Amino acid sequence: MIEDSSIINHQSLRMDELHGKKLVIMGLARQGKALARFAAEAGASVVVTDLRPAEKLGAVLAELSDLDIEYVLGEHPMSILDKADMLAVSGGVPADAPLALAARERGIRVTNDSQEFVRRAPTAVIGVTGSAGKSTTTALTGVMGQMSRRRTWVGGNIGRPLIADLGKMGAEDIVVQELSSFQLEVWDQSPPVAAVLNITPNHLDRHKTMAAYASAKANILRYQTEAGTAVLCADDPGSLMLQSLVKGRLRLFSREKLVKDGACVSDGQIWLRNGKDIPVCRLEEIKLRGDHNVLNVLAAVTLADSVGVPVAAIRRAIAAFTGIEHRLELVRTINGVQYINDSIATAPERALAAINAFDGPLILLAGGKDKEMVWDAWAERVRERVKHVVLFGALAELMAQKLEGFSELTRMETMAEAVDVAAATAVPGDVVLLSPGGTSFDAFQDFAARGEQFRQLVNGLEIGDWRQETGDS
Ligand code: ADP
Repeated sequence: MIEDSSIINHQSLRMDELHGKKLVIMGLARQGKALARFAAEAGASVVVTDLRPAEKLGAVLAELSDLDIEYVLGEHPMSILDKADMLAVSGGVPADAPLALAARERGIRVTNDSQEFVRRAPTAVIGVTGSAGKSTTTALTGVMGQMSRRRTWVGGNIGRPLIADLGKMGAEDIVVQELSSFQLEVWDQSPPVAAVLNITPNHLDRHKTMAAYASAKANILRYQTEAGTAVLCADDPGSLMLQSLVKGRLRLFSREKLVKDGACVSDGQIWLRNGKDIPVCRLEEIKLRGDHNVLNVLAAVTLADSVGVPVAAIRRAIAAFTGIEHRLELVRTINGVQYINDSIATAPERALAAINAFDGPLILLAGGKDKEMVWDAWAERVRERVKHVVLFGALAELMAQKLEGFSELTRMETMAEAVDVAAATAVPGDVVLLSPGGTSFDAFQDFAARGEQFRQLVNGLEIGDWRQETGDS
C-alpha cells in the first residue's frame, strides 16, 4: 500500500493508548484544553478539574461542548483520581500540588500535553529548553525548517500546544517544541533531538533549589537513547554540566571555543561542523541584536542541521529572521530616541543580556515582581552602563536598595509614569529600554500585556516635545 502522508496519517491507523482509559486533566487553560480535545477524540474518558468555577470558564467550555467530557470545577477533590489511569497537569500547576502527589502515591502516571505529544509524534521532534533564549531559538529553527520547504510545526511553550495538530503531522515534517522547566518537570521521556541552551537561576520560587530546576531541564535529554542528539552550550557551565547524561550524539555550540561537532565562530564567521567544516554566514548577517543572540543562532544552526535542513536554508533563515515581539523589539524612534520593548526580560540575567546588547546611552525601565532572584550582578552592570534608571512596580524598593548611592535613579509607581519620566529625560541618540528584570505579575496578566501597554504608551508619546524644550526647531 502506498501511503500519502498528507491523506493518511499513521495515527489514524492504530488505536491510541488512551482509548478506554480514564484521564484526569488538571487545569483548563490552553494546554489542558488541547489535551482534553485530543484525549476525548481518542476515546478516553476525560475528567477535567479546575479551581475556577464554570462562570469563569464559559468560553473554553463552549469550545469543548461537542465532546463528552466530565467537569469538576471550583475544587480538586481526591475522589476524581478513583480508577484514573493518568493525571495530566498543565504547566501552571506545580508538580507537588496535592492532587499530583496523591496520584503518584497511588501509582497513577503523571504527565502533560507536551509529553503526550512527543510520545506520539510521527517525526523526530526537536525540543528546546534553557533559562533564556528558548523562544528565539525555537522560532528561528522553525524558520530554517520552513526555508527548507519541509512542512514545519512550531509550538509548545510558545504558540499553540502541538498536540492540537498531531493528527495533521507526517513523517517528513519538522517539529520544533519549546519546553519550559515546568513542563519538563513531569517528563519521563525525551525528544530525539534536544537542546539545553543555558541554565541560570530562574523560577526558584517554584523549583526551590537550583538542583531541582536543573534536574527538571535535564529531563529533555535524560531519557534519550543512543540514537538521540543532545545539543549543549560549551560557553554555559550549567548546560555543559549535562553532558554526562548524554547517551547518543553530543553536539556543542560556542561563541568562544571551536567545537568538533556543532556550530561555532571563527574569523567573524559562523561555522557548522558535522564531519565537514561548512561556513554558514558572517556575524554581520545576523539581524538580531546582542551576543546572546549569536548563541541562539548557533544553537538553531546545530538543531536544524541535526534534522537534515540544508545549509542554504539555514543561511536564508538567519538573513530573514528579525526576532519575535517583546524581545528587544524596536517599538518606535521618536525625536532621535529609540524605544525598545524587552518585556520578556523577567529575570536579572535577561535584563543584563539586554543591557549588554547596546553600545550607546541607555535609559533603563526596570521593575516588576520578584521571584527570589539575585540582583547584585545586575546592579553592578546598571551602575556601569546605564545613564538613568527608572524603577517601577513591586521590585522598585529592592532594586533601589541594590543601587544605593547611584544618583541617576527615579522611582515611580507604575510603568506609565516610568515611560513619562524616560521620555522627559531622553535626548537624541539615547535608547529607552524596557527590560524589567522582574515578572509582570505585580500589575499585568503576563509579559505580553506589559509589553503591549509599553507599546501603547510609546505610540502615544507626542513628537516634537524635545524641540520645544531645547529651543531647537
Ligand atoms: P525564553 O523563551 O527562554 O524566555 P526568549 O528567546 O524569549 O527566551 O528571550 C527572552 C530574553 O532573554 C531576551 O529578550 C534576552 O533579554 C534574553 N536572552 C535571550 N537569549 C539569551 C541567551 N542565549 N542568553 C542570555 N539571555 C538571553
